[in-house]
Amino acid sequence: MNNGQVYFIGAGPGDEGLITEKGIRALVRADAVLYDRLVNPKLLLHARPTAEFIYVGKFPKHHTLRQELIQEEIIRYAKNGQTVVRLKGGDPGVFGRVGEETQALDKAGIAYDLVPGITAGIAAPLYAGVPVTHRDYGASFAIAAGHRKKETEGELDWQSLAGIETIAFYMGVNNLQQITDQLLAHGRSHDEPALIIEWGTTGRQRTVQASLATLALTAKEASISNPAITLVGRVNHVYETKSWWERKSGFGQSYIVAYDEHYNEGIQQELQETGANVLVYPHVTSIAKPSPTNYWHDVTSICFEDAQAVRHWIVWLRECNVDIRQLRAELIVRTELAAKQLEQFGLSSMQDDTREAEVSLSGLPGTEQIGTTTHTYHPMSHDCLAKQFGSGERQTVHFPTVASVSFFMDSLRQGGIEWVADYIDAICKDREVEPVVKPYFAIKEEEHESDLVRRSWQSGESRDRTVRAVYS
Ligand code: SAH
Repeated sequence: MNNGQVYFIGAGPGDEGLITEKGIRALVRADAVLYDRLVNPKLLLHARPTAEFIYVGKFPKHHTLRQELIQEEIIRYAKNGQTVVRLKGGDPGVFGRVGEETQALDKAGIAYDLVPGITAGIAAPLYAGVPVTHRDYGASFAIAAGHRKKETEGELDWQSLAGIETIAFYMGVNNLQQITDQLLAHGRSHDEPALIIEWGTTGRQRTVQASLATLALTAKEASISNPAITLVGRVNHVYETKSWWERKSGFGQSYIVAYDEHYNEGIQQELQETGANVLVYPHVTSIAKPSPTNYWHDVTSICFEDAQAVRHWIVWLRECNVDIRQLRAELIVRTELAAKQLEQFGLSSMQDDTREAEVSLSGLPGTEQIGTTTHTYHPMSHDCLAKQFGSGERQTVHFPTVASVSFFMDSLRQGGIEWVADYIDAICKDREVEPVVKPYFAIKEEEHESDLVRRSWQSGESRDRTVRAVYS
């Protein structure tokens, strides 16, 4: 068997948009993904639901052993002919130990690609409003490790480092006193500004400014912890208390939007624009099950529970070689969207909530119709959701439609995370959604901040997009 290809991909510093297109392309193809602690878990949703996801941040603390185990795992998957993605926070070449991993692959004769990422030492300052170089303040920039793991790694060359105008220290929060002592001993000034950016580029971003003389104490008082970048240099003069990122209206907000094929894309995009962290749950792939009948032209009445059922029915007609003009069935719909979807195919229907039909079709999970759909939930989708709840924090979930409630509940069950239901406050986008949600969640009145969601929901823009997608 041929060896599989390995991709080392930079996942960026935290904001899920800061990964490269090339990185996403490799993720989409991956059979196995090995990922680190600081990688945004939402990026894993780009990979197929059938891929294997291996969290290597949990491997033994002992660094040498951990590193060897990771290398062995990558080689094992690649030797099985699988496409492997090794997903690393920031850029794989910056304190990412990628050199050791590629060396092991070279030895094993396995081919690999290296895909750069956006490194935290540049991105976190930028999200705090500070560019690492500036015509007025600094034209040289260095990246340095704030602490060295082993005795043998030796000391940094402080003399040379102190000659660089801007310095980004990684992994340095527990070592700030030593860092500032050394810089001061090598000629930097006491009142030079420094910045610490914790959880840069995420909704948890926190920034603390101090002078070199007061940095260690200020960070301690603010209980700054990892991950954080310490930026030293006169460029910090451009820092203002709240950066462009922290000023965004949705900064620090988290939203969960229950999946609905018509609405979530539009809602997600609009909320993300505001800087909010948005999770659409579940991440689902739906495919039509085999056609429930071969005799579509003989069926006298068909009922469509939703728009997806219409789309799958069109697929079945094609598979069974039935020309739409041969049909004599009466078409009944339960929702307006289903009617609209039929209209797109030139078919008129009758909306009736009670009439039974010879064949009843539904695209929703957990329904007992004759013709249904298979839904595959992305396994990492459950992890992403569970993470949002952290240590028992309540979360608001927006339910745009009745269908979204079915998907949400079915996925919670399949993911074995029904416990989150106790911590959910539901916002219903429509009166008809409320009675469906009530048995499961506490209902919350809509707040002003979710106006955007409502507007997007009403715009129907995403609905048009879906219809177009069916045609293309
Ligand atoms: N390869 C990564 C760095 C890995 S070392 C990169 O290129 O960014 C881990 C260190 O990176 C952390 O200790 C912290 O100093 C820094 N770091 C990673 N993500 C960060 C973030 N979102 N905000 C601030 N610092 C971060």
